[in-house]
Order: sequence, then C-alpha cells, then structure tokens
Amino acid sequence: MLQEIADFFLPRTCHLCGCHLRDSEATFCVRCVESLPRSRYHLMPMNPMDRRFAGIVPFERATGYFIYSRNSALASAIHDMKYRKFPSVGRRLGEIVGEELLMVGFFEGVDCILGVPMHWWKKAKRGYNQVDYIAGGISESTHLPVIDAIEAIKSHKTQTSMTLEQRQANLSGSFRIKNPDALSGKGIVLVDDVCTTGATLRTLAELISREVPDSRLYLLSLCVTV
Ligand SMILES: [Zn+2]
Repeated sequence: MLQEIADFFLPRTCHLCGCHLRDSEATFCVRCVESLPRSRYHLMPMNPMDRRFAGIVPFERATGYFIYSRNSALASAIHDMKYRKFPSVGRRLGEIVGEELLMVGFFEGVDCILGVPMHWWKKAKRGYNQVDYIAGGISESTHLPVIDAIEAIKSHKTQTSMTLEQRQANLSGSFRIKNPDALSGKGIVLVDDVCTTGATLRTLAELISREVPDSRLYLLSLCVTV
C-alpha cells in the first residue's frame, strides 16, 4: 500500500531505459537485465581475468562479470553508481552477479566477501563506497557475509589514465590488514567495481597472500574492460 502511494507520486523507473518498473522489478526492468553484456568468462578455462593475475598472485578463480565498454548503457549506469549518488545501481548489479554465479558454483569454497576499501577521506567526499553496495548485493544473493578486514590508508590519485606500472606504484602501501584473524583459513572473494589493468585487485591479493598465507582468494570484478 505504502509502496503504491509512493509509486503514484514518484513512479519507479528502470535506471537504464526509463520504463516503469513492475512490482517484481528493482532498479532495472527484466529486459534491461537480460540485455546486460555478460562476459561469461567464468565458463572459460584461462579466461582474460585469469590471465591478468596468473603467475603474479595465488588465486582459486577469477572473473569479471559484465563487459565494460565506453559510451555503453552499462558504462553510464556505472558512472551514476560512482559519481551521481546512485549506489543502488551497484547493489542491484551485485545481486544479479551473485545470483547468476551462485548457480554455476563460482562461490564453492568461498566463506566471505571482501570489497575493495575506499580511503575515509574519499568516502566522506563521495558519501559512500560503491563497492560496499556491490558486495552487499552479492551477499544478499549468496548469503555469504561481507567482512571488514582491510582499510585503505592512502588516498591515492585517480588511476584512469595510468599504465599498469604507474597504477602499481600509485597503489603501493595503499592498504592495511586491520583484522588478519577474520581472513585466516578463509576462502575470500575480493570484489571490485571495474577491472581495467587489475592493479587494485593485484595489490590487495598480494597483501593478503603475503600476510595471511593460509587464506584462499577468489577475484571478482563487477565489470571488466576488454
Ligand atoms: Zn529497462
């Protein structure tokens, strides 16, 4: 009833196509959810995400779920998620990824979810860390807990136009494990929003595998560039 009244005054619309949402839909309509560009990397042996990390950090599985290309509808939704105060987009995309990867066994062996942390100053300016919402959506679908075991201790520069080497240097010393016990002996899925060179996931995976060597890492980016 309350939802109906709210919809009357503020109709819920699809974030991608603008159509009116049915009661069963959230953030995106069913048609837009179906048309999201899925990479299907998790079905491929030695997929392009595996190749970004193989031989560099130890990990069990890696995938990037949606293909990110400039000027696409998805790219504009991701921009809204990060910069225009629409973290609900991240939450819904996280739910979709969680639901679909759960069905194919991607989370077998995983005990918890760890999103890439954001430095407190950047988070204060933005108002939220969009990766928290993505991780929350994955948790909603998989019932895996989200843990808070790492903090970002350096407010690094934006990395958009950097090479992998520049990103690595920019990120070095960026993170600190504040709760190693929460990671010890666990299967941890590291979650990021967009994977371009893989520098962020690589930095985190190196830190965790070095300081908590009995952990197992699964690398999952919501989106991946090709
Ligand atoms: Zn739509």
